[in-house]
Amino acid sequence: MSQRRVLIVGGVAGGASCAARLRRLDESAEIVIFERSSTVSFANCGLPYYIGGVISDRNQLLVAAPQRFSAIFNIDVRIRCKVTAVRPSEKTIEVVNLETGITTVERYDYLVLSPGAKPIRPDWPGIDLPNVFSLRNMEDMDSICAKLQTESSRRAVVIGAGFIGLETAENLARRGLVVTILEKQSQAMPTMDPEMVVAIAAEAQKNQINLRLAVEVTEIEKTSDGLAVATADGDKIPADLVIVAIGVRPDVALAGKAGIKLGSMGGIVVDEKMRTSDPNIFAVGDVVEVVDFVTQRPALIPLAGPANRQGRLAADAICGREVHYRGSQGTSIVGFFEQTLAMTGATEKSLIRAGIPFEKVYTHSANHAGYYPGAERITLKLIFSPEDGRVLGAQAFGKSGVDKRIDVIAVSIQHGATVYDLEEAELCYAPQFGSAKDATNIAGFVSGNAMRGDMPVGSWSEWFELTEKGSQPFTLDVRPSAMVAAAAIKGTTRIPMAELRSRLNELPRDREIWVHCLVGQTSYLAVRVLLQNGFRARNLSGGFTTYEAELATRKR
Ligand code: FAD
Repeated sequence: MSQRRVLIVGGVAGGASCAARLRRLDESAEIVIFERSSTVSFANCGLPYYIGGVISDRNQLLVAAPQRFSAIFNIDVRIRCKVTAVRPSEKTIEVVNLETGITTVERYDYLVLSPGAKPIRPDWPGIDLPNVFSLRNMEDMDSICAKLQTESSRRAVVIGAGFIGLETAENLARRGLVVTILEKQSQAMPTMDPEMVVAIAAEAQKNQINLRLAVEVTEIEKTSDGLAVATADGDKIPADLVIVAIGVRPDVALAGKAGIKLGSMGGIVVDEKMRTSDPNIFAVGDVVEVVDFVTQRPALIPLAGPANRQGRLAADAICGREVHYRGSQGTSIVGFFEQTLAMTGATEKSLIRAGIPFEKVYTHSANHAGYYPGAERITLKLIFSPEDGRVLGAQAFGKSGVDKRIDVIAVSIQHGATVYDLEEAELCYAPQFGSAKDATNIAGFVSGNAMRGDMPVGSWSEWFELTEKGSQPFTLDVRPSAMVAAAAIKGTTRIPMAELRSRLNELPRDREIWVHCLVGQTSYLAVRVLLQNGFRARNLSGGFTTYEAELATRKR
């Protein structure tokens, strides 16, 4: 076999994975990584935790040093080398050594682009002032840490409440700073559905972080004692440092100039082998546009898991293996103080945008057996096709065990599983780890019951829409009287479950009855009683607990 020369632009998640896999498959290939920063294979995902001191040794973030690539993998790593041009017709790239300033031209048989994404930096006046940071790489992290060492670092404003913003805010608070988060959207974690992220606001408040939603930043000003972030509503929030974390854009500068095809979302278009419009050039990671596994639409999903898998897959394809990328489904997770929020597949928002019909249910199950100490609630939203029950997406939050449920559902989605498969999923159980009917099974049972017509479901979003139009459904609250006395919804009929069978005559036969309890379980029983007595009824999914979450999103 003739020796291939494979050049890789970018030596972190996608690039480093690609290089290592290539070497494992092809001992004779010449593999060169060009990385413009001074580190390769570092853990971007760990950066906020070094800022907060959770990771105390900076070296821990360096997953593999250039020397290791050379010694163990026989890969030539050239750090501080920036690729400035790609010439597909000549199969060459131009590289500037940032130490010496010398430009060289390098020939390739295959080129892999993994330059990642750039933090979005709007042209707000003041965006380039000192102490206005983004957080993308080790250099950014070091600059933020250097600022934190100074005495004048007491107040931080984090712009953006996505996962990088939240993680950074938490870690700045951990360092003792007074933190404000400003988010333009009316919800934190805008990739998720609004009612599934209400816990973030409560968690922020609990930890003295001032989370302000639906706030638009207009300017960053220099003041006599630091900075101030000005907002469209006329406010000025003082800060010693500002972190701009409002998202990223694929870094397509090189590809664009080289005439490589870009897609409607602004990323590089690749086929299922991660090959670009040029057959000798592959692209992986944050720079590419992927196919959303559920909606089958183009999407930008800048996450480490897809970048690593794509890097590996591109190496396979270069080595002639028959591989196909399945698409990305956005499986992701964020921790914010004691809360964990995770998602996989489509959200309600993305399905509405794509015009795909869906049904949804909410469950509030324990992370492990309730009788075992320390049980915590997991709120799970399962979204599925009303036609065949195929699982389309899931989101969850809670203190513990959220990752396990979302991971199980993520694999289910990839295998085209239905809610009936979740009913049947055999999952590990001992009291400290789970329940004999796991939260995942419960979500499957509830959805399966809805699909079979055993328990028609109603959603609070629909209930609110009808109510706001003045046609509130006939709503029956079957919670115990004490619970109702503590908090109840205006205009509901209240009959505790224990009295329902004897008080059926109080209920209408000419209207559909929307039933709720606290979490949706007792109301399921009530719906079964009503249906078997000739009433029309549906269960308001997630009960009063989900009502409160939905209400919180509507108050904004
Ligand atoms: P990158 O890992 O960004 O690597 C691209 C590299 O290319 C960079 O080092 C860059 O210097 C180099 N480069 C660019 N242009 C050139 C050029 N012209 N010449 C030479 N070199 C060049 N994802 C998760 O799934 N979970 C998480 O918890 C998570 N946390 C994150 C936290 C932070 C703070 C950040 C910033 C990201 C996080 N991510 C997380 C996202 C994840 O890190 C990225 O999706 C992933 O690293 C993308 O891999 P990549 O190879 O495409 O790009």
